[in-house]
Amino acid sequence: MPCSSQTKYATLNILLAFIGLLMVSNACKTSAPVPAGLQLFEPGRQAKNIILLIGDGMGLTQISAALYSNNNQLAMLEMPVVGFHKSHSADNLITDSAAGATAFACGVKTYNGAIGLNADTVACYSILAEAKSKGMATGLIATSTIIHATPAAFYAHQDSRIAYEDIASDLVAADVDLFIGGGSQYFIHRVSDKRDLYEELRLKGYYVSDHSAEDVLRAPFNPQRGFAFLTAESQPGAFTQGRTYLPLSTRYALQYLARRNSKGFFIMIEGSQIDWKCHQNDAREAIREILDFDAAVREALEFAKGRDDTLVIVTADHETGGMAIQPGSRFGRLKIAFTTNSHTAALVPVLAYGPSAELFSGIYENTGIHTRMRQALGFQALSSAKER
Ligand code: MG
Ligand code: ZN
Repeated sequence: MPCSSQTKYATLNILLAFIGLLMVSNACKTSAPVPAGLQLFEPGRQAKNIILLIGDGMGLTQISAALYSNNNQLAMLEMPVVGFHKSHSADNLITDSAAGATAFACGVKTYNGAIGLNADTVACYSILAEAKSKGMATGLIATSTIIHATPAAFYAHQDSRIAYEDIASDLVAADVDLFIGGGSQYFIHRVSDKRDLYEELRLKGYYVSDHSAEDVLRAPFNPQRGFAFLTAESQPGAFTQGRTYLPLSTRYALQYLARRNSKGFFIMIEGSQIDWKCHQNDAREAIREILDFDAAVREALEFAKGRDDTLVIVTADHETGGMAIQPGSRFGRLKIAFTTNSHTAALVPVLAYGPSAELFSGIYENTGIHTRMRQALGFQALSSAKER
């Protein structure tokens, strides 16, 4: 869209307030076009739906490396609002994914390893549970097991992130409308008990299926029923091993949730394996995982475009690997180094598009993601008892 038509758009829209005008004038100064189909929203406009996309371990250098490896293009960099969060946990400057996701889900800093508990091991109230209580539809998609730390923090309450069978039981109890991810072994063939969680989900009315029966992308579309799909027995394979479900199941899930009810939805979608490839200091594989995640971001933006009710947020729980793009790099031919095979404490980028996106600019604690999502949805302030 040319600069002049943006200005025309701005002058015609009497509701467009100062921040929007600033964005337009900045776009004109830098000649950076507002991507086709994306709109500017007046500040304070409430969102009905939230799509939270988490690239586990995806710091600024990971995003940069994927960008420079992909013809200088990423869907996520079309998003107009940028902020940063401080990722540290309650007990460590270097967070893990459990504490990081609990901060997003519940708005509390907790200790590394805690799933949906505050630092005193008391269960916290997740935005997914709160959305459910308001009658909204809910969803989770991951390229790890669905009971891995990042998705788990949105529905489970366990003092250890490796209590996988207990976390799976919590998922059944949480009545999440749609979930897609690996880990069928924790639902059936359980070690700690003889429960058959597939059967329990079916008794609750879910359509339940898995990798052994069909491809997730061929599963029937029926928003009248809950949808549970386990994509692997344990961890799904890497993108380069043929795992392709993330972008298309994102498309499927958004259509499903939009038709599930009329009260809006909350979904968390995770590119789980970016982190793992950075732990392995494998830049090539990490970039492939980021590009796969970015294809899911594109699906989210395609859904949000042309509507005025859907807030899309992209962030990470932390950076992994201390990644750097070294001297001698060129577009498409990067020299990448890592400083560690663990997580780091670097500030983490937050990108946002849609109504209330402006809340996500600035620099804030990771718990601020939770605060801002609740504000965007128009949820009232929590009592301190519930919040903790
Ligand atoms: Mg994760
Ligand atoms: Zn990690």
